[in-house]
Amino acid sequence: MRVAIISDIHSNLPALEAVLARIEILNVDAIHCLGDIVGYGPFPNECVELVRIRCTHVIKGNHDSGLIGETPIDDFNRFGQEAIRWTTRKITHSHLEYLRQLPLRVVENIFTLVHASPINPEQWSYVMSNLQARECFRAFETELCFIGHTHVPVIVGEDGTVGAFRPGIRHLINVGSVGQPRDGNPQAAFGLLDTDIPSYVLERASYDIQMTVKAIENAGLPRFLGQRLIQGM
Ligand code: ZN
Repeated sequence: MRVAIISDIHSNLPALEAVLARIEILNVDAIHCLGDIVGYGPFPNECVELVRIRCTHVIKGNHDSGLIGETPIDDFNRFGQEAIRWTTRKITHSHLEYLRQLPLRVVENIFTLVHASPINPEQWSYVMSNLQARECFRAFETELCFIGHTHVPVIVGEDGTVGAFRPGIRHLINVGSVGQPRDGNPQAAFGLLDTDIPSYVLERASYDIQMTVKAIENAGLPRFLGQRLIQGM
């Protein structure tokens, strides 16, 4: 079975469409989304709509949680707050109710899906260091755990190895971000798991970044949110 794992779309429709087009070519059986469908970008309704149609499992992210009022707006930086206020004025009632009922964790066969850390997912902790990553292994029981939130892709093995997927070893895998990559590569990122081999690869899809940058400016969202897409930071 081939599974695509996408995360942190952040209302970036051109990036999401490019990723879905690439996934189409890759012939996957299911797409799962690790949350943060909204926030930062100018296309919240279009992105929630596509995720609702195309994804099997969808996890709630901190920006989704902020939009529905579960996570206090003060927990976000200035740009995050501005984007949440803007999105509140745009999002449809139906999409808001959809975001409200999303789970914080899904376990299916060999993998666990969460947005941030599997340790108390509702606290939205960032898994940044190798030590933090290794502590996560106590918080899930499956072979694999897929996470997002930092927008930086990484693969950590239970034995402490970083950067390579090796069958037979438990892994914590950050699939990167579709709509706001922060690893210096502006291309949209997502993960591709083949449970038969088994194998995991990080995929990248180029998209029309300028289209999103212009839409951010036209929407009256902070210009910085467009500029960082060009840098991939
Ligand atoms: Zn995010």
